[in-house]
Amino acid sequence: MKNAEYDVAIVGGSVAGLAAATALGRSLRRVVVLDAGQPRNAPSPAAHNVFANDGASPAELLDRARRDAEKYGVELRSADVRTLENCTDAPGEFFGVHLGSGERLTARRVLLATGLVDGLPAIDGLAEHCGTSVLHCPYCHGWEVRGQRIGVIGSSVMATHQALLFSQLSRHVTLITHDAEVTAEQRGQLAAAGVEVVDARIERAVSTGGRLTGVVLEDGTGMPFDALAVQSRMIARSELYTGLGGEVSENPMGEFIETDPRGATAIAGVWAAGNSADVGASVPHAAAAGVTAGAQLNMDLINADVAAKLAVNA
Ligand SMILES: Cc1cc2nc3c(=O)[nH]c(=O)nc-3n(C[C@H](O)[C@H](O)[C@H](O)COP(=O)(O)OP(=O)(O)OC[C@H]3O[C@@H](n4cnc5c(N)ncnc54)[C@H](O)[C@@H]3O)c2cc1C
Repeated sequence: MKNAEYDVAIVGGSVAGLAAATALGRSLRRVVVLDAGQPRNAPSPAAHNVFANDGASPAELLDRARRDAEKYGVELRSADVRTLENCTDAPGEFFGVHLGSGERLTARRVLLATGLVDGLPAIDGLAEHCGTSVLHCPYCHGWEVRGQRIGVIGSSVMATHQALLFSQLSRHVTLITHDAEVTAEQRGQLAAAGVEVVDARIERAVSTGGRLTGVVLEDGTGMPFDALAVQSRMIARSELYTGLGGEVSENPMGEFIETDPRGATAIAGVWAAGNSADVGASVPHAAAAGVTAGAQLNMDLINADVAAKLAVNA
């Protein structure tokens, strides 16, 4: 078998990718992290509910994680991975990694820590407040808007669930049904939790002086809000996986690359961790999945080497 330059090529150098890289680097693995520099929470000033680091800036967390990985010899590169090649002379054992620059690297295993893309409801004026006053996760930003006027924009089957979660944080929560269907049973639950339901579609979000101030409904009615909650549709960046013949899976929140509990996908040698494999993962979950995948990749490589040596000696 040819010698690959790296034991593991990690695509994506944010939370999951860097956590995996450190676990692998500490196991003396040859690791390259290839990162296009678009971590999902970049618009947010602070990351919350992150064990022992509550309130740290997302950029600062990644800086620290890069320094940790580099201590163990991990190579970090700014790069856009365009395609992966499962080399036919050693499928699952040798991959070509093609970069936007035209360069080709080789690795024995690939970890996809590529994250996801948040699809916001198509409403003018929402995107610019994403991560500050347009929110998707009560555990990340809910405390910051506690007690405020919160409008929940219905856009999926998760609308009632999200409105109920925010009702724990404020007595002023309104669910505007917009694109979501809300059943009679759910309306009963929402009423019991003190959530007002408005059956209407939203035309646009309104800002004053750069601050979100509310929404205008399609009938022209204005509704004041301090924050809006959205059920963004979360779509894993899976092009590299589907390019190798992999298929994405779906759940009510979005699309993801299915893995086993270790992080291995259905394609031998290709692993996934973080939001690419679990759209609900927050920073600590993504970090834990990265550490798990890193440790399990190390064991997978040990097993492959032991099996190869036993085969030679047989
Ligand atoms: C606005 C907002 C605020 C959030 N706040 C919090 C919070 O307070 N607390 C919390 O716990 N969680 C928070 N989250 C969730 C958090 O962002 C994610 O859990 C975390 O970023 C997942 O890490 P990841 O490594 O899986 O993916 P990402 O952080 O999205 O990183 C993926 C990386 O892969 C790179 N990449 C993708 N494709 C390629 C390619 N082909 N080639 C090279 N590089 C590639 C991207 O450029 C990116 O750098 C928030 C999310 C959002 C949207």
